[in-house]
Amino acid sequence: MNPQANLLEHVAMERQTAWRAGGLARFGYAPSSEEELSSFLKCKSRPDLPLFFVGLGSNLLIRDGGLEALVVFTHRGLSDMYVAERNKDTLFYASAGVALPKLARFSANMGFEGAEFMAGIPGSVGGGLAMNAGCYGSEVWDCVARVRTITSDGEIKERSPADYVIEYRNVSQKHQQREFFVGGWFRFNPGDKKKSRNKIKELLKRRVREQPLSRPNSGSVFRNPEGEFAARLIERSGLKGLQRGAALVSDKHANFIINTGGATAKNIEDLILEVQSVVELNSGVKLKREVHIMGDHC
Ligand SMILES: Cc1cc2nc3c(=O)[nH]c(=O)nc-3n(C[C@H](O)[C@H](O)[C@H](O)COP(=O)(O)OP(=O)(O)OC[C@H]3O[C@@H](n4cnc5c(N)ncnc54)[C@H](O)[C@@H]3O)c2cc1C
Repeated sequence: MNPQANLLEHVAMERQTAWRAGGLARFGYAPSSEEELSSFLKCKSRPDLPLFFVGLGSNLLIRDGGLEALVVFTHRGLSDMYVAERNKDTLFYASAGVALPKLARFSANMGFEGAEFMAGIPGSVGGGLAMNAGCYGSEVWDCVARVRTITSDGEIKERSPADYVIEYRNVSQKHQQREFFVGGWFRFNPGDKKKSRNKIKELLKRRVREQPLSRPNSGSVFRNPEGEFAARLIERSGLKGLQRGAALVSDKHANFIINTGGATAKNIEDLILEVQSVVELNSGVKLKREVHIMGDHC
């Protein structure tokens, strides 16, 4: 089958992002496998457009004017997950489109521990690698043995953590040519299945208690500054409940902005900018965004 046939034009990104807001992507492509993605990129019909990878869209806002790019959606087709033995080492391989909670459950069910923290992060393996997602003292790259990447020309490579600068919620590659994640090998420790499953249950309960999960949101909007919590600074500035259009600073967790229904990307971005400036005025701390904002204003 010709992979170019799967190319869609004007893809509504509000359906692809957790905030359920935002404009259109010029082109969207959901490969059914890594091989298909590679063939597609080798002979793509619009090499002039920038490439952009999207996992589960749980940390992403596309502005209302849309994104002039070719967007690759990983979560449908890049879904392999298995246990791999490598040089007498047991590693878990997960493709970029696998949901982090699925990897956490798979590892727990296989009797390994260390992936439990991923169970409440509603992103993909690719997004988790790109963001170095983490919580409760653990981060995705703590567990990475190697990653598999693809260049914009469809060439597959294997990389080690030493090929990246890995920071709090930020990962940059040391090599020149831009690459995207197609999968990763993770190392977890042998553990106790029941204990890991219970830990997952506890962590999920904690999230339900602390986070406004019933309405569209993108998790923590800002990174925590060194030694401080963004949510505390926002709350102390009296910003809980602040609303712009249909975007609202959550009463339950001040670092969450929720879409109360029909929020535009502009409503959300305006609110983010306002929170940033009020917090800076009150505390002198300039909050850094965790969520990625891309695309054009209307
Ligand atoms: C309710 C809720 C709770 C959350 N809790 C946490 C938490 O505890 N800890 C945490 O760290 N995050 C949290 N998040 C944010 C988010 O889930 C993570 O950042 C997650 O890793 C993003 O993955 P994604 O697949 O959704 O990425 P996307 O939102 O699709 O993309 C995010 C960025 O990663 C890039 N990207 C995606 N896939 C690839 C790829 N294959 N190759 C290269 N780049 C790629 C995108 O281009 C984009 O720049 C939460 C979000 C929500 C909605």
